[in-house]
Order: sequence, then C-alpha cells, then structure tokens
Amino acid sequence: MVSRIRVSEIQLTPGDAGFDAEIAPFNRAIAHRPALAVGAACASDVAAAVTLAASEALPVTVQATGHGAVMAADGGLLISTRRMRGLSIDAHARRARVEAGLRWGEIVRETAKLGLAPLNGSSATVGAVGYLTGGGLGPLSRAHGLAVDHVRAFDLVTPDGRLRRVDAESEPELFWAVRGGKANFGVVTAAEIDLFPVARLYGGGLYFPAAAIPALLARYQEWVAELPEQAYAAFALLRLPRLPHVHELLGGRLVGHLRVAHLGSAEQAERDLAPMRAVARPLLDTVREMGYDEIATVHHEPDHPVPSWGRGALVRELTPAAAQALSAAAGPDSDSPLTVVELRPLGGAVARAPERPSAVDRRDAAFTLNVLGPLRPDVRDVVPAAGERVLAAMAPWLTGGSLINFQGSAVAPDQVAAAWTPETFARLSRLKREVDPHHLFRTGHVIVPGAHDTDQEHR
Ligand SMILES: Cc1cc2nc3c(=O)[nH]c(=O)nc-3n(C[C@H](O)[C@H](O)[C@H](O)COP(=O)(O)OP(=O)(O)OC[C@H]3O[C@@H](n4cnc5c(N)ncnc54)[C@H](O)[C@@H]3O)c2cc1C
Repeated sequence: MVSRIRVSEIQLTPGDAGFDAEIAPFNRAIAHRPALAVGAACASDVAAAVTLAASEALPVTVQATGHGAVMAADGGLLISTRRMRGLSIDAHARRARVEAGLRWGEIVRETAKLGLAPLNGSSATVGAVGYLTGGGLGPLSRAHGLAVDHVRAFDLVTPDGRLRRVDAESEPELFWAVRGGKANFGVVTAAEIDLFPVARLYGGGLYFPAAAIPALLARYQEWVAELPEQAYAAFALLRLPRLPHVHELLGGRLVGHLRVAHLGSAEQAERDLAPMRAVARPLLDTVREMGYDEIATVHHEPDHPVPSWGRGALVRELTPAAAQALSAAAGPDSDSPLTVVELRPLGGAVARAPERPSAVDRRDAAFTLNVLGPLRPDVRDVVPAAGERVLAAMAPWLTGGSLINFQGSAVAPDQVAAAWTPETFARLSRLKREVDPHHLFRTGHVIVPGAHDTDQEHR
C-alpha cells in the first residue's frame, strides 16, 4: 500500500477511475503498471511526489506524452506532467519559459505569432521537455544547433525532493548533465529556452515512387553536403498503411519521402532542390512557402497513439556502398515491414562546439538513421528483427554511437551507454551516484550510478 500525499491535482492507484488514461503512453506498445500515479499541476506537486517516492524507496517514472516510453513502469510512482502547461514568452529577449507538460506544437503556435521559433523537433505532439533532456535534433538544428545548446536554465526536482534552479552558474554540473541525460537526475518542471527570428520557411515533402529510392539514396549524401546550413532535408523510406487519413497515393506502398525545411527564399530553395527533383518525378509534392507554425507538416508524423518499436544509430558516411546496402535492406526489393527508415542530416551548427557544453557529445556523424515499425498483432513478431537487420546491414558505416532521443526501444545498458562517449558516460554515471544514490529514477534510458567508474577508482 502506497501512502498518499497532498498535491493540488490528481493521485490515482490501480482500479481508480481515470488511472489507465492517466498513465497511458502515446507508444501503446508499453503498458505502465505503477502503484501510484500523480497528475502534477505544479512544481510543488512534483516535489511532494518525489519526496514521497524517496521516503518509501519507490522508483519514479516521469511522463509528459509517452512518446518516448521505452520501458514499463512496474510498481513505483509515475508522475504525469501533462497538466503543467504554463508558457511565457519574452519576445524582446527572445526567450521562453516552458512548463513540463507542453508539446512542441503548442509552443510553436504561440511563438509563431511573434515571428519567433524554438528549436523544436519534427512532431508537434512530442513533449518539449522530454525532447530537450535528450538533446533535440530538429529542422532548425543545422542552422542553430541542438535544442540543448539553447537551454538557459531548468527548474529541476532532484531525487531528494528539492526544487532547484539549474543553470550554468548555480549548478554547472547538473546543468551540463540534464541537457542530454534524460530523467536520470530528476524531474524538470520548467525550462528556459532561446527563440530565433524564424517566421517562415519553404518546405514540405517530396514523395517519390519506390523505384527511385536507390538512385535518390545514391545522390542524397553528396547533395546534403552541398546544402547551405539554413536548409534541412531528411530522407525516409516510408511504408504507410492504407488508412482513411493516409493520402491515397501513399497508403499501402513504399515511397521515398524527402522532408524539406529551407529558411532561404523560395527561389533559392528550389535551386537547391533541383538535383533531387532531377532524379525522379515525385508522386506527390507538398513543398511550398509556409508559416513556421506549419513546420510539423514537413515530416507529417502520426498524431494518434500507435504501438511501435524503434531504434536509432549514427551514420559516419553514406558512401555509395552504404546507400546500396540501405536500399537492399529496406528498399523496393525488400519485404521490410518497417514503417519508417529515415536518415536525418547533422552537420552545420550541430557539429560545432556549443557555447554552453552539454552531455550531448555524439555530434560528428553525418546522419542519424532511425528505424521504426508498428507492433500490430500481425507484424509484432517480425518488426524488431527486421529493424535490427537494417541496422546490421548498415553496421560498416555506423559510428557505434547514437542520440539518446532516437534510441527508442534500445534500453539494454550497453545500448544506452552508446549515446555518449565513454568519458561523458563515466562523468554522467558518477554524477548519478551523487544525485540519485538510491537509484530512484530507473525507468527509461537508465544511467546506472557509478556504472563506468574506472578500475583505478575501484582499487
Ligand atoms: C513522432 C516522433 C517524432 C520525434 N522527433 C524527434 C526529433 O525531431 N528530434 C529529436 O531529438 N527527438 C525526436 N523524437 C524523440 C523524442 O524527442 C523523445 O522520445 C522524447 O523523449 C519524447 O518526450 P515526451 O515528453 O514526448 O515523451 P515521454 O514519454 O513523456 O518522455 C520520454 C522521456 O523523456 C524524459 N522526460 C520527459 N519529461 C521529463 C521531465 N519533466 N523531466 C525529466 N525528464 C523528462 C524521461 O526520460 C522520459 O522517460 C521523436 C519521437 C517521436 C515519437
């Protein structure tokens, strides 16, 4: 029996009306079963919940949307932040303060009214804070850097239940670690982030027939390398199901999807797109001038909950042989059941050392490679193996590292550790031992306290 606490919102135990809805993640493949769910309305609710968890040695899980749910919370206490939706914008200083329950779409909608943009991700329904704690690679990253590079401060409830202001001056080590270390160091209740004067873009999707995928992949790396930093273009092998909300030209077939966000003029963007347009004629072309509030239409990701499996890796170089290997593993001649096999470009400002260093240190790759498949009953037995086969086929060109936000279902300790260089992982793990000695925060992408202490330290 778990004790109750005074919180301004909701606390529910299994069997209570609303319990299942409170804890349900976007990724329906994961079924949380906490002993207590707290629907926090403010930072002091979060602090009360963490204090209770600490006094009763209950593991803590934090969830805003469940987009990043990778491991079931079993027993313990789940803190749902989705009611924490405060947003304040200082247009003059180009800063915003975002509470832990906000999704990117809600933030972008408000900043766009002021001609400003955050360094949001591709999906409007992903939570801003979960994304920020994992680095945050988005359509503006080549131009301005990873989202963590432009976080000014966090309000953080640490595993001892204390609410701390964490910034470069007050808590430099925690500030470094939370930017990339996910929920391993506590619950972020709010973040202060920079905004950028971006009001519009030229972008959308070019959807190519499957037969063109090998030639597009063969051209893609060289083409991206020539693009200015203000241009972003991901390339996905997309197999969407035939459903009423899926465009009739796209459902039930494989297509190559070039996902474009260009901050230059329409004329310059079209000049830059010409080499890819020259490879094949798109089946569907949604590229156009748009306001920044339409940025989520570039990737056009699903906004309804689905059970899914996913993993990510970093690609050193997409050589012609690598492009061929990817085509063979997931392209038109494969029987891949995966919905998305996607390359997203790094480079530009992502690759440069940021002014405020963070724990995100896998920056020197050319692309992320993300593989994602549905866990519907008809394919759930084959999807993970198919995804692993794509990664195995690409192994000669992978760096061995990953970005933690794209680690998806990879939660084994060595897979989690691959998101950082060994030095960074050892530093995170040492700090984890200091900040969370009883290892209360141990669901999701878990850093074990003191896991990578050197032999020297053990002696
Ligand atoms: C459709 C889709 C598109 C995506 N696009 C991008 C993208 O463009 N770029 C990118 O970098 N990533 C992207 N991701 C990955 C995404 O950023 C991560 O899955 C992120 O963790 C989701 O955060 P969430 O709050 O929505 O999910 P949740 O499942 O609620 O949270 C996931 C994890 O984030 C951490 N977290 C959440 N809230 C807090 C908090 N208050 N304090 C501390 N830690 C917290 C925890 O570790 C938690 O387990 C995408 C994911 C999906 C499903």
